[in-house]
Amino acid sequence: MNPILEVNKLSKSFGTSTVLHNISFTVHAGEIISVLGPSGCGKSTLLQLIAGLQQPEAGEIRLRGEIAASAERFVPPEKRRINMVFQDYALWPHMSIYENIAYGLRRQKIASSVIKERISKLLELLRLHGLENRLPAQLSGGQQQRVAIARALATEPDLLLLDEPLSNLDMRLRIEMRAEMAFLFRQLGTTVFHVTHDPDEAFAMADRLMIMRAGAIDQIDTPQVCYSRPATLSAAMLLGAGN
Ligand code: ADP
Ligand code: MG
Repeated sequence: MNPILEVNKLSKSFGTSTVLHNISFTVHAGEIISVLGPSGCGKSTLLQLIAGLQQPEAGEIRLRGEIAASAERFVPPEKRRINMVFQDYALWPHMSIYENIAYGLRRQKIASSVIKERISKLLELLRLHGLENRLPAQLSGGQQQRVAIARALATEPDLLLLDEPLSNLDMRLRIEMRAEMAFLFRQLGTTVFHVTHDPDEAFAMADRLMIMRAGAIDQIDTPQVCYSRPATLSAAMLLGAGN
């Protein structure tokens, strides 16, 4: 079976500054990969390239074996079967929780009975039952983030991209949510590419860690191996610097 995502020799610059240099890695079905690296090392740029929100300069991105981005070919974001959750959830403030989740499904022309069933299951899984008629402002930060995750999962993406998904939450909620998300994604078999600058969050979620520094990959390994045998001094310092 083809991997869900293959990135080969990917590079990206903005003007004269090179943000990603010659990045290569593979993500298999059902894996949770956490990308860990300091602010400014290129994590969000890498996610945007995978999502199709930016175009690479060199190298290629393959999804399920097919080229999604290369010098010759560019598949637009809506054709990539990927969904993304950002740091600031971006829920529509004037729509109920139910409508926030249903909106993207209606655009995919999914039958309303299927939509109803899917949303009901997700509300249950994410402990949001009974809140479906509320507006986002009537929910707590943690509940709003769970709605954003439910909305992304509802489209049944092949790959879920998470960019610093918990950084707007307080410490107690972050600890609770990272365990909850890891459990949920494993239960559903979701393939997840998760970006964070928080080593504790990466350790709590990841099957494999990808440690980045200044636009390059230092190490890709299980959290245990990265911790006990860091490949570089900066990887060791990053992992040792957990809060
Ligand atoms: P991270 O998510 O790891 O904090 P980013 O991918 O956001 O890092 O940014 C990496 C570098 O690329 C930073 O120096 C940032 O200023 C620069 N950068 C990101 N997006 C753009 C853009 N659209 N135009 C110009 N520079 C950008
Ligand atoms: Mg970022």
